[in-house]
Amino acid sequence: HTDVPEPGKRTRVGIMGGTFDPIHNGHLVAASEVAWVYDLDEVIFVPTGRPVFKLDKAVTNAEDRYLMTVIATASNPKFTVSRVDIDRPGVTYTVDTLRDIQRLRPDSDLFFITGADAVAEIMRWKDADTMWDLAHFVAVSRPGYSSSLPALNVPDHKVDMLEIPALAISSTDIRRRSVKDMPVWYLVPDGVVQYINKHGLYRHRGGETETD
Ligand code: ATP
Ligand code: MG
Repeated sequence: HTDVPEPGKRTRVGIMGGTFDPIHNGHLVAASEVAWVYDLDEVIFVPTGRPVFKLDKAVTNAEDRYLMTVIATASNPKFTVSRVDIDRPGVTYTVDTLRDIQRLRPDSDLFFITGADAVAEIMRWKDADTMWDLAHFVAVSRPGYSSSLPALNVPDHKVDMLEIPALAISSTDIRRRSVKDMPVWYLVPDGVVQYINKHGLYRHRGGETETD
C-alpha cells in the first residue's frame, strides 16, 4: 500500500462482491462512483465462490474470474481483489464475506456495494439481520431495474440508494455476445477482452440459452 493511514484513524473500505463472469465496466463504474461519494480509501473486489443465487447455472472456474478481476482493477490505486470467497469451501454467503473482510481490516468501516437488482435479494441472504451490524449497504442504480429501494425489513440508515452513470452492461450479455462472436470491446477493460480470447472463454455454452 502506498497510502499509509493516519494512526488511530478508521479507514473506509468498500466491498464489491460479484460473480464477475466476466467483470465489466458496469462493476468498475459502480465501485468508482461509490468510492467517490462515500470517500472510501479502498474498494475490495471479492469474486464469489459458488454464488448462492446461481447454483443452477454453469459458472466459469474461480481462477479465471479472479484473474480477470485482478487485470480489470490493477490500474486503480484504490482497487484491490480478495480471494476470501473463492478460497472458502462451499456456497458463498455475504455474511461470511463481511466477517472475513472485517477480520482482515479490523480498523475499517465497511461499505457493501450492490446493484439495485442484487439488493432485492438481500432478504434471502443468510443471517440478513446480523449483516447490518457488519457493514453499511449501498445499492447503486442499474438500467432495467427499479431505482427505488424495495420494502426491506432492515434498520433505517443501513441501506442507501445511489444514482450512478447508467451502463446497460451485464456479464450475461457479454457471454452471449462472445458465443455469437460479437465484439465486447469497451464493455469490459481491454485486458479482459484479451484474457477471454487467450483462454477461449465463453466460446460455447452447450446449447444453454441464457436469460437475465
Ligand atoms: P450476470 O449477468 O452473470 O448476473 P452481472 O452483470 O449481473 O452478471 P454480477 O457479477 O452478477 O454481474 O454483479 C455483481 C454486482 O454488480 C451486483 O451487485 C450487481 O447488481 C452489480 N452490477 C452488475 N452490473 C451492473 C451495472 N451495469 N450497473 C450497476 N451495477 C451493476
Ligand atoms: Mg447479476
